[in-house]
Amino acid sequence: MNRPYRLGIVGVGKIARDQHLPAIAGNPGFALVATASRNAQVNGVRNYTHIGAMLEAETDLDAVSLCAPPQVRYEQARAALEAGKHVMLEKPPGASVSEVIALSEFARKQNRTLFATWHSRCASAVEPARYWLAEREIRAVHVRWKEDVRRWHPGQQWIWESGGLGVFDPGINALSIVTRILPHEVLLRDATLHVPADCSTPIAAELDCIDTNGAPVHVEFDWRHGPVEQWQIDVETTDGLLSISEGGKRLAIAGDPVALEPEREYAALYERFHWLIAHGTDDVDVRPLRLVADAFLLGKQIEVEAFGR
Ligand code: NAP
Repeated sequence: MNRPYRLGIVGVGKIARDQHLPAIAGNPGFALVATASRNAQVNGVRNYTHIGAMLEAETDLDAVSLCAPPQVRYEQARAALEAGKHVMLEKPPGASVSEVIALSEFARKQNRTLFATWHSRCASAVEPARYWLAEREIRAVHVRWKEDVRRWHPGQQWIWESGGLGVFDPGINALSIVTRILPHEVLLRDATLHVPADCSTPIAAELDCIDTNGAPVHVEFDWRHGPVEQWQIDVETTDGLLSISEGGKRLAIAGDPVALEPEREYAALYERFHWLIAHGTDDVDVRPLRLVADAFLLGKQIEVEAFGR
């Protein structure tokens, strides 16, 4: 197709404004023509308050990018696919594993692209780390993903409600990296979820996993951390330590920093979405969400001090 794909954005909040709008503006393969958001609007395009109204009025839209919270992802994606649109999902791709699988099957039936994005997998350290680890023997993995929820999620109520994932909302970014870079699958064995008395989702969690070769993978997520974030993945190998820090912006191997490409997570996501549409294919990897679901399945829930929402 020579013309850009006509795109609609749904759920104009923090991530849509911080990342999606600039990435779309910088990609000549897409033209933003409409939004659907109950309150927010974007200048220079047609704005609707509901995805149904947008799909009904904008019959020549090619694709839709869903940026609302995960609790409404399935209904919005299903409506867009039914209307014949290609669909890009913010992470996490849904509030449950089963709804993502159902969407994936429906997209194939509709012959439309479904792209479940994991933006952290596009961080600069990830592919060099994956390449280096592919030939290595892994001894142990330590994940520490800790930040101050009041700084990073001010006023967001959906994170504390069922399906909002709590601390797994950022934590799933770490799991998306781990499941990409490790040469073996990761299995969850045990978990502890710390749930504030006034919330439905955890504020902190520890996961004990192994890879299918038996190497331990220990994960710590904490939203009570601060003021300096810790977004760190350390992989001990027989050839030394591989260390990803700053959420994937930095990489060190055996103590030496590795030179990386500049950060362009969302630019890369829209390039991939364009490629997937142009090649008539899809990309849906549920493994990070499946580990979160396993933590809720197997984990102990401990009530902790109320958050004060
Ligand atoms: P947000 O700031 O709360 O924005 C989401 C927007 O979606 C809201 O402003 C709201 O806009 C709309 N919305 C909220 N609840 C809705 C509902 N029940 N039904 C329909 N629309 C609803 O959240 P966000 O931080 O942008 O996060 C959205 C998604 O992006 C999440 O899945 C998150 O994990 C992911 N993400 C966030 C970040 C980040 O740094 N914030 C980074 C990467 C990925 P209206 O009121 O106008 O409808």
